[in-house]
Amino acid sequence: MNIAFFSTKSYDRNHFEAKVAQSNHNITFFEDALTLQTAKLVSGYKAVCIFVNNPMDEPLIAKIAELGVDVIALRSAGFNHVDLEACSKHKITVYRVPAYSPEAVAEHTVALILTLNRKTHKAYNRVRENNYSLEGLTGFNLHGKTVGVIGTGTIGTAFCKIMAGFGCDILAFDPYENEEVKQMGGTYVDFDELVEKSDIISLHCPLMPQTRHIIDGKSIEKMKEGVMIINTSRGALIDTSAVIDGLKRKKIGFLGIDVYEQEDDLFFKDLSGEVIQDDEIARLMNFPNVLITGHQAFLTDEALQQITETTIQNLTRHEEGKDVENEVTAAKNIS
Ligand code: NAD
Repeated sequence: MNIAFFSTKSYDRNHFEAKVAQSNHNITFFEDALTLQTAKLVSGYKAVCIFVNNPMDEPLIAKIAELGVDVIALRSAGFNHVDLEACSKHKITVYRVPAYSPEAVAEHTVALILTLNRKTHKAYNRVRENNYSLEGLTGFNLHGKTVGVIGTGTIGTAFCKIMAGFGCDILAFDPYENEEVKQMGGTYVDFDELVEKSDIISLHCPLMPQTRHIIDGKSIEKMKEGVMIINTSRGALIDTSAVIDGLKRKKIGFLGIDVYEQEDDLFFKDLSGEVIQDDEIARLMNFPNVLITGHQAFLTDEALQQITETTIQNLTRHEEGKDVENEVTAAKNIS
């Protein structure tokens, strides 16, 4: 099958080139995202492969359908950036990679917590300048702290496992309780109890209408003074302006985010020479207790390997007319 790859980076090419060489597919890598402006590139391709930073709305879906595309292969688990109703209307099948190394994201979540807490990023810079002062580097023991985990699917559970290893008490909130989390000593509570009792709150639920701004002014008010909030899931789970207000009032003691509400205009690009127009991210970067990474939690060799294998397998099975269990549809999404 002829596949057009969009938003391709060197790490995608390295993994996909090797895998495609063993298949019958032909892949063309494009650095640009798939947009109405770049859509003409898909002429002659049956499939397009896109990442999470590539919104697919109805006009774009209609355009690529008109140009002959009948499959969208997502190199991601999340699919909230694709209008599935429009795909169904224009007879485009959508596949995703439902799980790829949950440990990659869970471990990055822990990296954010440890960096914010023990300030290794500041220590690194100080020591390189021969400044061995410890002033301002005091952290806290994770052992004995209460960690609230919102969403205990594959990533949330991998994260619980690590935090249980640190000797933390785990509180969990999820409409579906997970036995594995209970077996490691986690306790399921309601949302309010979790936000009231947790020293660290980590988000691992999907972005849906019900979870949009799950962290807002109201929930922040219920939190402990100096709480640490970590989001490696989706930016819009957090109401950014409410969090900025909580940081200014010192209600929030630490914020670690790998995802950001308005990340589509920023992340995955080198904007170091540009004037950033987004005032909220500029404000966030001015807090000494905020750590932002640019949607890199998934970025390990193991995860890229899994993404590559599942994506190619989805497309191969589609071409052979076989069932593909990783199909996402509007109907499945609603259920
Ligand atoms: P998953 O489907 O295995 O788990 C999600 C869990 O959230 C499920 O247990 C579900 O029951 C729960 N949930 C649903 N609604 C909820 C609600 N209202 N409140 C609390 N919990 C709720 O998904 P996963 O693989 O663990 O991924 C979790 C999220 O991580 C994804 O949705 C994606 O947005 C994000 N993610 C981020 C990166 C990254 O690089 N930063 C990479 C992969 C995934």
